[in-house]
Amino acid sequence: MYDGASAKMRAFSIGVDLGGTNLRIAALTPAGERLETIALPTRLKAGPQAVMDDMAGACRQLIEKYGSQGELLGVGVGSPGPLELPLGVLHHPPNLPGFDGLNLRGELERRLRRPVQVDSDANLAAYGEFLLGAGCTYASRSLIMLTLGTGVGAGIILDGAIWHGMQGAAGESGHGPLDPAGPACPCGARGCLEMYASATAIVRRAHELGIGEKDPAGNGTGAALSASAVARLAEAGDTRALQVFDEVGRALGLSLAHLINALDLPLYVVGGGAAAAWPLFAPRMFATVQEMSYVYRMSMPRDPGVFEAGKTHIAPAQLGSDAGLLGAALLPIHAPVPAATQRPG
Ligand SMILES: [Zn+2]
Repeated sequence: MYDGASAKMRAFSIGVDLGGTNLRIAALTPAGERLETIALPTRLKAGPQAVMDDMAGACRQLIEKYGSQGELLGVGVGSPGPLELPLGVLHHPPNLPGFDGLNLRGELERRLRRPVQVDSDANLAAYGEFLLGAGCTYASRSLIMLTLGTGVGAGIILDGAIWHGMQGAAGESGHGPLDPAGPACPCGARGCLEMYASATAIVRRAHELGIGEKDPAGNGTGAALSASAVARLAEAGDTRALQVFDEVGRALGLSLAHLINALDLPLYVVGGGAAAAWPLFAPRMFATVQEMSYVYRMSMPRDPGVFEAGKTHIAPAQLGSDAGLLGAALLPIHAPVPAATQRPG
């Protein structure tokens, strides 16, 4: 056995997916093979320092277990925003109350005594799909991924690299206004994509249409609705629930028309929990893009589900809720930060 090759074979990296509910830490080989995942609840009430201790503890556990077998290539962390990049400082993150001002990168570097890379969860989900998911299937070096969750996030990969924009705020397509007379969005605008295509919007719209409320005969559960419950109703043929997803498709189609006309990329990926309802919203989404984007009409594939070189594809994400975690682990391998820009450990 010669050391160089064997060390390379057993090399690994660590990815962290920090969410408002769950904290997941995984060890991955450079080829994307997962060695182990540690899943913990995000102890929001215990405060940011306790969450950072949990995160560092799980990282150390993986480093101890796999570090004796091979080299640790890096640690990548995905977090909900808003996030100052590449510094990794959180600014009033709505999904992480009490974490304002937390230097996520610095706090983890201090605990692990080694460099850490931080990026937004939406960027890393796009990066994961690019390296291991839809990006492979559609042989694409550039893509945009819309993540339909509590809100709508977006990540942009241009020629193999995450596009951050001037101040790290690229990919705020969820706040692209579609209707100036639409519902007020927490971002200050009105009628943003997020107000129509997020899980939150699906539930709100379902309530507006009277879904889930007791009928005059007293039937109905009255229980709290979820986006997946609305999807189940639509699958069962409930016309109001079908209308909700038709509206999701319309909103996504309008947003995609903007993105396609502006960027002319080969691939647009729709992911996140609410994207599981793809069959319910995709027909209207494709019809709207076709209607609204002449760039799409110039390059649409004969069958949207079948890869055709040189065409514009809109496809569902393939990695599910793991995209961000895998993207975080692969970031330090595929896009290491030059040593000069890293602070001393
Ligand atoms: Zn908005």
